[in-house]
Amino acid sequence: MRAYQIVKWGEPLEEREVPTPEPKGTEVLVRVTASGICHSDIHIWDGYFDMGGDNKLSLEDRGLKLPFTMGHEVLGEVAALGPEAEGIEVGDRRIVFPWIGCGACEVCARGDELLCLAPRTVGTRYAGGYAEYCIAPHAKYLVPFEGTDEPHAATCACSGVTAYSALKKVNYLTDKEHLMIIGAGGVGLAGIGMAKAVCAAKLIVADIDPAKRAAAIAAGADIVVDNSDAGAVAQLLESTGGGVAAAIDFVGAPATTGFAMQALARGGTIVVVGLFGGALPLPVASLPLKMMRLIGSYVGSLEEMRELMALVKAGKVKPVPTTPRPLREAGQAIADLRDGKAVGRYVLVN
Ligand SMILES: [Zn+2]
Ligand SMILES: [Zn+2]
Repeated sequence: MRAYQIVKWGEPLEEREVPTPEPKGTEVLVRVTASGICHSDIHIWDGYFDMGGDNKLSLEDRGLKLPFTMGHEVLGEVAALGPEAEGIEVGDRRIVFPWIGCGACEVCARGDELLCLAPRTVGTRYAGGYAEYCIAPHAKYLVPFEGTDEPHAATCACSGVTAYSALKKVNYLTDKEHLMIIGAGGVGLAGIGMAKAVCAAKLIVADIDPAKRAAAIAAGADIVVDNSDAGAVAQLLESTGGGVAAAIDFVGAPATTGFAMQALARGGTIVVVGLFGGALPLPVASLPLKMMRLIGSYVGSLEEMRELMALVKAGKVKPVPTTPRPLREAGQAIADLRDGKAVGRYVLVN
């Protein structure tokens, strides 16, 4: 089969002919028909995450070997079953839930596979969807998507479930309070499109790019602000009567999390989702003095994925704009995403 692989960190992806995997045990082989390109793929492509200062989290040190096939927003048709696979049939169409743990340890047993110390993530640890075929380790990770838009359904496996899980962490807000989403890129737009289905708060969206603020309004934001504007914090504190009750930072840079801290009401919560990276000087006393909660959210659970697809199917989620790109353009598409040319999400189709 054809696969589009990282052969050297940060260098253009290469089209390579590799053996089509054969499903063993409980594994299921999926013929990939759509595979979203996620912003985090750019970091995987580079081979590291920026942890601030000169600290880099190297993926090679975490055991990722090249050549590697990325793609963790995968959807397609079941093509073959391992001898012990059950609960699924050849021809069934499913999303491959990628955030998979070892399945044997205690955290996996209680459903927190995201906290597993031996993850088996599709497209970040194991070969993913920038290829004609992909393996799911067990049929339970295959989620139905019938009745939904296919490219959008693919993006739900990462950007969708990531946005949903972050919003669930602030779903206690009332319609009298304000939720601020920072960053209307791929994941941020997904969050804006489902915010009203998960959380009752009035929705403010902050982005430095006028085109992305316009996209935010189209996706359902009540108010947009330019967080690069020197007067933005004062204006927000004024218009919300003391600050936003919660902020979700889909960028995850010192400037954006810092902006959220300044615009936050007392007792507020900041959820950091984005992996832009960098280090933030944190006035530690502001945590108790503002009774501030600063938490992180990473992708989402299999249960959240199923909840999200029920909302999508019920028409409660405004789909993110997607741009289909042929699979053979995988390398160019991820380069275009890195160059900031994408509004919404690129989805490789085959
Ligand atoms: Zn992703
Ligand atoms: Zn585990």
